[in-house]
Amino acid sequence: MPVVTRKTQMQHKTEIEIELSETIAYKRPIASFESFCPVCKSLVEMAPPEAAAILTRTTEREIYRLVETNLIHFVETDKILVCLNSLAEIKSATDVMQNNYEKQNNILFD
Ligand SMILES: [Zn+2]
Repeated sequence: MPVVTRKTQMQHKTEIEIELSETIAYKRPIASFESFCPVCKSLVEMAPPEAAAILTRTTEREIYRLVETNLIHFVETDKILVCLNSLAEIKSATDVMQNNYEKQNNILFD
């Protein structure tokens, strides 16, 4: 008696959809701590750029820009910590700069 083997190849295509959502939660108080600022020459509140951005309601990119242009104090070890003292001082100044920049743009595009 012959054995009939039937090979049925069933192709299963399984699609798995994974939805990734990233939630960045900052516990209060925001990760800032006292550290020595070489410019202030004292212990001041310092924070990583992402926390500093939240504290000053600006963007992380803006914080890095201020660091790169030496407008704010910072220490660089394995990561950057910015001096919140200098950031607070520059904040009002940058608001003025922002206004001037916008005015200039208005003039240019008028
Ligand atoms: Zn400082």
